[in-house]
Order: sequence, then structure tokens, then C-alpha cells
Amino acid sequence: MAVDLRDRPVDEVVAEAGVGAAIGLKHVASLLFTYRCTIACQHCLFNCSPKRPDVCVSFEDGVEFMRQLRETDRCIHIAGGEAMMYYDEMMAICRAANEIGAAPHFIETNASWCKSEEIAETRYNELLDTGVSGVLISADPYHQRFVPPERRERAYRWAVRVFGEKNVAASNVSLEQLQELREIGRDPERVAAYSREHPPRFVGRAGEDLASASPDRPLADLADDPLWHGGNETRHCRSEFDADDMWEIHIDPYGNIQTCCGIVIGDAHEKPLVEWMERGFHTDNDLVRMAYEEGPYAYLDLARSRGFEAREAYPQKCAMCWEARKFLRPEYPETFGPAEIYDPV
Ligand code: SF4
Ligand code: SF4
Repeated sequence: MAVDLRDRPVDEVVAEAGVGAAIGLKHVASLLFTYRCTIACQHCLFNCSPKRPDVCVSFEDGVEFMRQLRETDRCIHIAGGEAMMYYDEMMAICRAANEIGAAPHFIETNASWCKSEEIAETRYNELLDTGVSGVLISADPYHQRFVPPERRERAYRWAVRVFGEKNVAASNVSLEQLQELREIGRDPERVAAYSREHPPRFVGRAGEDLASASPDRPLADLADDPLWHGGNETRHCRSEFDADDMWEIHIDPYGNIQTCCGIVIGDAHEKPLVEWMERGFHTDNDLVRMAYEEGPYAYLDLARSRGFEAREAYPQKCAMCWEARKFLRPEYPETFGPAEIYDPV
């Protein structure tokens, strides 16, 4: 009987089906290289921007975190922030990781660095030489508000040429379509309408900039809202914290392990990621257990007990979670962190 592709090791899946398909089949685990970014998208759950500290993961940690991520048998990538801002540092980590069989499968980027044909060709070929199989390139009104259409078009075209189409997790968007996305992104009313039609999780900058554009709904109606990656549930958010179910998991430059942005569920310096996953993230941390068992309603109750004046309605379950977490963060900064995600700047 043929083995289901998703039951095969991730490297085989990437080799056979490509990065684009492997992401869906194996799900993902990433190194958040930095919280700094070339741009500041309104929907950014990690609240990244050019104003974030000039900090990226250290060489030693970067290689070690890649090794840990590789132990998960997920599709591994480097994300951010915009890791290409630290191109030399990122390449050094990719090269060293490749030597121990832990190169990332792909790099996630907003394409803002793609200023010429030569840069695109050179960087992609250098990535390929370090064992990177592909790239994920964003395209939507939030990104295109900042990223010129020709850079995104160039980034996609060269990615297909160097990595092959199946290894490019990105839509083939024409210059005209990119210009249209740019015009939506630059028009506050059209952005508001777009965010109502395609709502991100209202956390981080999305919680600050976009949540108010969507209508409030009574607390009881939020229970079945989709979570980070779909999966309607009842009150609790178990699938976001269960190692077998979670769609993605990240290690940030400080070693913080996160699934939902802004809830630190472990420390990769303390023990390897797979050990955290095997033990269960909710077993040692009461705040994680609350989300796992009761969802953000437990955070709301905790915040109320500390004096939080909760509203009767929020536009989304995650939006309610975000508001309660912001209130609770001063008391629980080690779990509701890091500062970059909550800092309004
Ligand atoms: S969504 Fe991506 S490109 Fe946009 S600010 Fe956040 S990290 Fe940067
Ligand atoms: S409600 Fe909170 S814990 Fe649940 S998925 Fe949304 S952000 Fe994560």
C-alpha cells in the first residue's frame, strides 16, 4: 500500500512535492530571526517594524535553534521580521546549519530587498548553495502598501527560476494586480473593508490597527470563532497548544517558543523544542493551561479579577484574548511577551 506523503520524512516530502505542498502536509516550524522589519504591516501579528531593536538571533543560538527545529519533522523556515535585513548573519547560520543537516527548507520574505535583477539572482543562488530549497513571498494589500510592485514581481520571477515553481510558496501576481493591492493598502477605507472580509487574528498590530474596523459581537458568540489556523472549537484553544495539532511553532531570537503570537510557551535555552512538545506546553505553565483548557475566557476572568473593565462584546475571540493579555502583561511578562509584540511603537 502506498505510504501517504504526509507520513514520510519532511525532506522526502519537500524533494518530491516541493516546499509549497510540504508546508500544508507537514506544517511548519520557524526561527523568527528578528522582530525588526523593513516595513510595518497593519496586520502584523508580531508587531514587527523598522523601529524594533536592532537585534537578530546570535550565530550560536541560530544554529542551535535550527537544529532543534529540524528535530520536529516539520517544514522548517526562517521568518521574522524580515530576516533579509541581516543577510550576512542569516547566511552564516544557514551555512553552519547545513553542515549539520539542519538547513531551513525555505525563507519567508516581503521582497523589499529585491531592488535589482542582480540582487535577486545572487541571493537566491547563494541560498540554494546553503541547502535552502525555496522561498515564501507575501502579497496582499498590507505588504504591497509598502513594497513596490516591481520588487515583489522580481522576487517571485527569480524565485521560480532558481528554486523551481513547486518550491515557491507564493501566488503569481501580475504588476497590475500588485498595483491594485497597493492602492487598497493605501486607502484606509478599502483596507478596513478588506480586513472585514479577510480578517487576520486581531493580535499585535492587527489588534491595534484593524480590530476596530470589524463589528463587535457578544462574548458568548465568540466561542466558536476560528483559531489561528481554522479549527473551530468551543471556548478552549487546545489545538493551538497541542504539539500534534498546532499548525506552526516558532522560536524567536531570544529563545522564546510561541504558537499564538505573544504567548511564550517555552524557552529553547532551557531544553530542546521536541522535549517541550513531548511533555506538553500546558503542563508546567498555568497561563498556557488556561488557554488550552478554557481559551481566552479564562484570561478575561483573570483580568477582571485584577480590575480589568471588560467590554460586553469584541469583534473576535482572539481580539478579546489580546485585550485581556495586554492588561495582564505587567503581572505576567514572561508568558505574555516579549516586549516587541506588546510595545505599541
Ligand atoms: S507581516 Fe511580515 S513583512 Fe509585514 S511587518 Fe510583519 S514581519 Fe514585516
Ligand atoms: S484566543 Fe488567544 S489563545 Fe486562543 S487562538 Fe486566539 S490568540 Fe491564541
